[in-house]
Formats: sequence, structure tokens, C-alpha cells
Amino acid sequence: MNIIDCHTHSTNSPDGESPAEEMIKKAIEKDLSAYALTDHCEVNRWFSIDHYGLEPNEYDTYDFGRDFERSMQENTALKEKYSEKINFICGIELGQAPFDFGLSDAIVSDKRLDFVIGSIHQVMPYDDFAFIDYAKKAVGPLLELYYENVYKLCKWNKFDVLGHLTYPLRYIEGDKGIKVHEEIIRKSFKVLIENGKGIEINTSGLRQAYGKTFPDIYWLKIFREMGGKIISVGSDAHRSADLGKGVKEGAELAAEAGFEYLCYFKERKPNFIKI
Ligand SMILES: [Zn+2]
Ligand SMILES: [Zn+2]
Repeated sequence: MNIIDCHTHSTNSPDGESPAEEMIKKAIEKDLSAYALTDHCEVNRWFSIDHYGLEPNEYDTYDFGRDFERSMQENTALKEKYSEKINFICGIELGQAPFDFGLSDAIVSDKRLDFVIGSIHQVMPYDDFAFIDYAKKAVGPLLELYYENVYKLCKWNKFDVLGHLTYPLRYIEGDKGIKVHEEIIRKSFKVLIENGKGIEINTSGLRQAYGKTFPDIYWLKIFREMGGKIISVGSDAHRSADLGKGVKEGAELAAEAGFEYLCYFKERKPNFIKI
């Protein structure tokens, strides 16, 4: 069975715990058919905090432009160094592209990039879903804004796969009536499929309280039935100990949903490998 891990972070992400080289060595050990480092690049915090005129808080980090450059330089060098040993992909996880599509266009035009995951971690004017106190906020409108942003992101169409659809459920217990959003999710899928883009199976939920992938099999089947062909798998590991976790289960879920091939990107072009 071919297994891939196309969503991981190194210490070039503010919340990453293992250096890039340690991550690559782990990926070699795991014998992955394709492996991507996809450090965070949050469009709404690309510049320093002074640029936005905001007060610091205990959780937000800024200067993703600086982090992006570090990540690109280090990953490009490692790609060369380990070219004989692993099929390495130099990627990023671009967060909140709808915050500034002009800036996002400029970021993703960097020729060093093999692969771009488009993600929504935050909807304005709220905090990242990871930091919201759900006892104090109504979940319905937050989810609605999340899916509207996902739809806007899909229409922008300059990334390769949509990251961890249903992400807020990582932090909100239970499904909270997610099927209510089926219409807009189907609209997003339609746009992705028409443009030859894909989605990922993010396996981080399997090692968290949620217990399922983002998105789960219900949505994977719908994406497939609607004609979706591009499916990627990623652990979303932030440390080498989690690298590759759940990716075999992710590939099995893809097969269960009707996919025969997984897809990884090199030089922004899809490559299909039999599951
Ligand atoms: Zn993410
Ligand atoms: Zn991630």
C-alpha cells in the first residue's frame, strides 16, 4: 500500500516542535511514497504586529512573511540534500487567504513551492478557532462564517488542496448540526472539482477527542460522488513523533469512499499513485 503524508509542520511554524531535518529523517524511516512539509503561513498575520496596529495577546504570532522565507530556504536545501532518499515536497499551509487575496496571490507565486494547502483557521473578527471560548460564543454563526470563508477560498482557486474541511470541529465537541451546512459545502466541492482541485484527509482528528478525520467519510463520499478526483492525506504532525500517524487509515478511508488513487503535488502539478 502506498502511504503519503502531505501535511506536516517543523519549527519553521510557530507551533512546530521538531526541526525540518528531523521531520525528513522520520519520513525516510517511515518509508513514505511522498512527504510534504507545509509550514503555517497565516495571511492575516504576514507582517509584524506594528503593521496591524494591534495589541499583543498570549496566543497570536505575527511575521509569517519572515517564517515563510525561513521555511522555503531550509526546505529547498533539504529537498536537494535528501533527493536520493525521499520524494520530498516543499509546501505551505496558507491560512486565511480571503483576508487578502492580493497578498495571497503574491505568496503562492513563489516558484520554490511544490504544493499549497488552503486552510481557514480563523474568521474575522473572531480569534482562531483554537482559542475561542465556546461556552461564551454561539457556535452556529461561527460555523456559518467558517463555511462562507471556505467557499470564498475555493472560488479564489490558487491553492492545490483544501485543508482540513470541518476544522472547527477539532475544538467544538460533537458535530453541532454540521449537516445544516451541506448546501454550501457542496457548492465549495463543485467549484473545487470544476477547477481540478482537491481536498485532503487530515488525520489529526484521529489522535484528538474528535476521533475522526477532517473531513470524515460522509463528506469524502460526497466529494467522490460529485466527481472529485484529487485526494491528499496528511497527519498534520507538529512533531516528528506524530509524523505519518493515521495516514494508512486515511488511505483506507479514501478507498472506502471510492478513490483508487491518492494525489500529491510536485511543482504545483498533481501526481496520482495507486492506493
Ligand atoms: Zn491547519
Ligand atoms: Zn497544519
